[in-house]
Amino acid sequence: MNLLTAVLPRCWFFALTPVLLALALCGCGGPEKRQPSGVRVTPGATRAPRPQPPPAYSAPRVVTPPSVFQTQPPPPPQYTPPPPVVPRTPPSPAPVRPAARPQWIPLQTWAAQLGFSAPVRVGPMDFQVRSGAGAFQFTVGKRAATWNGHRFHLGFAPAATNGVPFIHSLDADKNLAPLLQVNRPVARGRGVIVLDPGHGGPDNGTRSAQGNEKDYTLDWARRLKPLLEARGWKVVLTRTADRGVELPERVLIAEQYQADIFLSLHLNAAATPGAAGLETFCLTPAGMASTLTRNYADPANIVLPGNSQDFENMRLAMRVHRSLLQTAGMPDRGVQRARFMAVLKTQQRPAILIEAGYLSDRNEARLIHTAEYRQKLALAVAKALE
Ligand SMILES: [Zn+2]
Repeated sequence: MNLLTAVLPRCWFFALTPVLLALALCGCGGPEKRQPSGVRVTPGATRAPRPQPPPAYSAPRVVTPPSVFQTQPPPPPQYTPPPPVVPRTPPSPAPVRPAARPQWIPLQTWAAQLGFSAPVRVGPMDFQVRSGAGAFQFTVGKRAATWNGHRFHLGFAPAATNGVPFIHSLDADKNLAPLLQVNRPVARGRGVIVLDPGHGGPDNGTRSAQGNEKDYTLDWARRLKPLLEARGWKVVLTRTADRGVELPERVLIAEQYQADIFLSLHLNAAATPGAAGLETFCLTPAGMASTLTRNYADPANIVLPGNSQDFENMRLAMRVHRSLLQTAGMPDRGVQRARFMAVLKTQQRPAILIEAGYLSDRNEARLIHTAEYRQKLALAVAKALE
């Protein structure tokens, strides 16, 4: 017992010593606030504050997410591509229509951009521009124009303000630009041409006192085939005999053979006397009116499959038209535009329809009835595709 009484007070003393020491170091047990950053604030402290933990030590405690986060997969890399909708969203209310160019361009401006001379007045309403490539002539108020003397039709008649002529930008793109490249040979692709002799079978087409359109067009195609083959083309006819072929089927044949060019061969007729000459048709570009509608609707804003070929359509049309004028010497009724022609509007390749003279005109009917003239027609087309 004596030993216990002697030892216990000492044990208590040694046991309580760390506690007392800790209380002393804490500033005598006053209220202590710890800021989120871990910095101690001791109100009313009279003594110098104890050295505080370095910020580098306490800061991670605040910004570090809960420990659960540590068990999750690492966050995605910062270079994760943005959602796909972002690039497709216009950055600002940008114009929807590509209306960068004004609709009407001063002829002089267009001419200067393409290396043509300034417009020269060659008639009361006629203006001409020239370059090394040739000459365009325009008439204010008229859609008919010429390129090196060969007739074509604008979508919009040129206008004039204070004697200054203007042309429409759609004409610059769809008519004038292709014509500037009319001397470049037609692209051959796989080298397949479909010749489409118009009409057949119960459908005679137009007729003269001497014969039917369907027979003349078939003969023309038969004469043209070897001439094209001699120039390296593979030639397919939509009909090789006097039989009817529906218009969609003629386009399907071009699809089936993956044709690079489609030529529909026809002869014309008119109820009014005096109509004569050559017309070459290609599909009307969207945004402009056709030159021939035959009472069909002609919605200018419609975009047809064949409009994907607008540029080459015009180039091909003028190449063939020019060659026919030069070889057969017929009156020039111009490259024309039509939207209703079934064999043109759904084509996926350059396609034109030739009306090589009027069976209603006595002189032309007589010419067309001769084998020599039809051979000329064939030769003219073949030359255009050299
Ligand atoms: Zn016809």
